[in-house]
Amino acid sequence: MARIVMKFGGTSMAGIERIRSVAARVKREVAAGNQVAVVVSAMAGETDRLVGFCREASSLYDPKEYDVVVSAGEQITSGLLAIALQAAGVPARSWLGWQLAISTSDAHASARIQDIDMAALEASLAAGEVAVIPGFQGVDEHGRVTTLGRGGSDTSAVAMAAAMKADRCDIYTDVDGVYTTDPRIVPRARKLKKVTYEEMLELASVGAKVLQTRSVGLAMKEGVRVQVLSSFTGEDAPMADTLPGTMIVGEDEFWEEIDDMESQLITGIAHDKNEAKITLVAVPDKPGAVAAIFAPLAQANINVDMIIQNIAHAAGSTDVTFTVPAADLARSIEVLNQGREAIGFAELVHDTRVAKISVVGVGMRSHAGVASTMFTTLGERGINIQAISTSEIKVSVLIEEDYTELAVRVLHTAYGLEAEDVAA
Ligand code: ADP
Ligand code: ASP
Ligand code: MG
Repeated sequence: MARIVMKFGGTSMAGIERIRSVAARVKREVAAGNQVAVVVSAMAGETDRLVGFCREASSLYDPKEYDVVVSAGEQITSGLLAIALQAAGVPARSWLGWQLAISTSDAHASARIQDIDMAALEASLAAGEVAVIPGFQGVDEHGRVTTLGRGGSDTSAVAMAAAMKADRCDIYTDVDGVYTTDPRIVPRARKLKKVTYEEMLELASVGAKVLQTRSVGLAMKEGVRVQVLSSFTGEDAPMADTLPGTMIVGEDEFWEEIDDMESQLITGIAHDKNEAKITLVAVPDKPGAVAAIFAPLAQANINVDMIIQNIAHAAGSTDVTFTVPAADLARSIEVLNQGREAIGFAELVHDTRVAKISVVGVGMRSHAGVASTMFTTLGERGINIQAISTSEIKVSVLIEEDYTELAVRVLHTAYGLEAEDVAA
């Protein structure tokens, strides 16, 4: 007997037919003798709809009430799946976040899971019941409902798997694994058998939304075995324990199956259109000037990502360019304008029509030339690079948004990631 967590995303839960198909999939795992907890998302589009209601009700809504509203989508799907399972002859019950309880911080709309009380759930699993748990929600120390940030059901599932000491956490979605890049942009993207935690963490944080970034960090910390696989396969599809999807693994396990370490440069490419670029023109070129820009942004909890400081103008001033999340642009401008005297810039220019393209791979650690391939490839296509940032296993560039798809495609080819190249 294995213990598994099965997580189903929004498209997998979109409508009663889909929920019946999920119930059938869960039933197969139970029939194979496994103990199962299921974590579900709201139906696709539902959370957006609920967020829209909050905004319509008031632009200055109370985040505590926002969480009450937006967590409702998962309450509905968890109840519906429990009903569908019961109808299929599988004993099941739903457990809302506060009923278990899934305790979180009180940072509404982006709360962190602190603890899951397993006593009642263990008894239920031991009695042969399937536990159906709404993802994305928890309860804080004041007894208020919280949510974990968009895409947070992945994190609920991984936290559940860690608390249950599950053998595997299977994340069912609308693609059959993690690909070299978003298969909706590059149809010839290749499905990866294995990705390291570290690579997945980087990929998720630079825009590959197949897993929520926090869920990968948690899986890495807790050593949870995560598999990404499709819920859109027929009844005769191979069982999940044959690992048909993509496994997120530690580095030792990753290299085990790579025959040609030399050619393993890049694992994946991601893009992110949700950044905005700000340039402060004519900032005094003196010690402390950069600190004067970024300290107030940090105080306002605004995450600055890429930074470039141009060479000094003759007049002893310089231009500083950086990116912030597009959602924080208005606040950033306000904070910077408030500090204008202290910073001493002449002009603030901003641009939301930018995209960040990132190439990620642990192979980069031992190979030179990854960045230069990226710059040359983009240059040959006439794509201008506006900013660059790197980590040990990642290179990111900022480009004009209109070139996003083209850039991802040409880089995918340049690094030999196409499915056919592998077969060759
Ligand atoms: P769910 O609703 O199941 O949580 P998401 O929409 O959050 O699903 O994530 C799945 C989507 O992630 C896919 O439909 C795909 O378009 C996108 N995606 C982005 N990058 C990748 C990648 N490298 N591999 C696979 N899917 C990716
Ligand atoms: N329903 C939530 C969202 O759309 C959480 C999730 O699906 O992971 O963000
Ligand atoms: Mg998701």
